[in-house]
Amino acid sequence: MTKFQGVDFYDVDGLLSEEERAVRDTVRQWVDDNLMPVIAEHYLAGGFPKHLVPQMAELGLFGANLPEEYGCAGLNNVAYGLIMQELERGDSGVRSFASVQGALVMYPIHAFGSDEQKRHWLPQMITVARESESGWILNGAKMWITNGSTAQVAIVWAKTGKPDDVESIRGFIVPTDANGFSAQDQKGKLSLRASDTSELVLQDVCVAKDALLPKSGGLKSPLLCLTQARYGIAWGAVGAAMACYDEAVGYAKTRVMFGKPIGGFQLQQARLAEMLTEVTKAQLLCLQLGRLKDQGKVTPQQVSLAKRNNVNIATDIARETRRLLGANGILAEYQAMRHLANLESVYTYEGTHDIHTLILGQEITGLNAFN
Ligand SMILES: Cc1cc2nc3c(=O)[nH]c(=O)nc-3n(C[C@H](O)[C@H](O)[C@H](O)COP(=O)(O)OP(=O)(O)OC[C@H]3O[C@@H](n4cnc5c(N)ncnc54)[C@H](O)[C@@H]3O)c2cc1C
Repeated sequence: MTKFQGVDFYDVDGLLSEEERAVRDTVRQWVDDNLMPVIAEHYLAGGFPKHLVPQMAELGLFGANLPEEYGCAGLNNVAYGLIMQELERGDSGVRSFASVQGALVMYPIHAFGSDEQKRHWLPQMITVARESESGWILNGAKMWITNGSTAQVAIVWAKTGKPDDVESIRGFIVPTDANGFSAQDQKGKLSLRASDTSELVLQDVCVAKDALLPKSGGLKSPLLCLTQARYGIAWGAVGAAMACYDEAVGYAKTRVMFGKPIGGFQLQQARLAEMLTEVTKAQLLCLQLGRLKDQGKVTPQQVSLAKRNNVNIATDIARETRRLLGANGILAEYQAMRHLANLESVYTYEGTHDIHTLILGQEITGLNAFN
């Protein structure tokens, strides 16, 4: 398989620091060497490539923007975004694995946990996590949990007060081997096949008092985690778009019809020009979003705009690449159809495209159109 050279029409590389480029190049190389050779077979078999997790941990890809004092890589948000981009260039399922671990489990422990919880859990989660006991009793069920059957620890958000009291929402660190905790894989997915998605059921699960994240409180706590995850997705989608664009260009230059490569026909050139334009715009959007995040100035609405736009254009680019490849475009040997199917999930999770539209609509008008 040829090495990925990147897509950089506007010298976005020139806007990155040396360290950011080095992180990106390391993950890019790892994806080429370790993920690309096996991803199609895992996708077809419908299973996450678990054997790659220790290597990802070794590279510091989990919770990479969390502080070094807990054993994390302590990278800035642009470097973290570039990791998401490169992982999703490989496969959305692999980026989802890292996103969920980093943004939805490690981040809440870091943001809302006690010093003791941070010291206990975070270093383990860079590699593996486990254990705990009684104190709170948790009941409930949730479908569609990425890594649900693979994880050794779950962050559970539960109301501790009346059913309609969102201010009583608190986060809990729950070991998945606790009595009463079960995870059932959801079968029959035609998207994100190289990712485990499960239904979690908690029946009278007892956790110790110190399983509660002491600084969590109200709906805003889980929403902060979602903003983290959505930020990573905005970058990840650019990776999937770059992979598809690269495949489209390569194919257009080599597939000969009517005596010349199909890339020599205006219709295909228009397709490629559109793709490159959208990839470039999305790259610049992500970079500025990352810089704002590093300055502590980013808003959830800005993250919504990037998630909404980038996943949408990546889906369009995957579809156009699939079409440009003709019949070959439906084969697992090529990437476009896998990315296209994956992106349909990415379009839906972490706030559907519609929901981000409503978030932006409210930001623009000041009027709530959710209900
Ligand atoms: C592969 C995969 C992995 C996932 N992983 C996770 C995970 O790890 N953790 C997790 O918590 N969740 C996860 N999810 C769940 C995902 O976040 C939800 O599916 C998503 O939030 C949409 O919810 P829903 O499926 O209930 O759709 P609904 O909420 O039923 O939406 C159905 C349709 O109605 C639209 N809609 C909803 N409300 C409005 C409104 N007010 N106005 C206009 N239109 C509206 C939606 O945009 C959508 O088009 C995952 C989903 C998938 C597919």
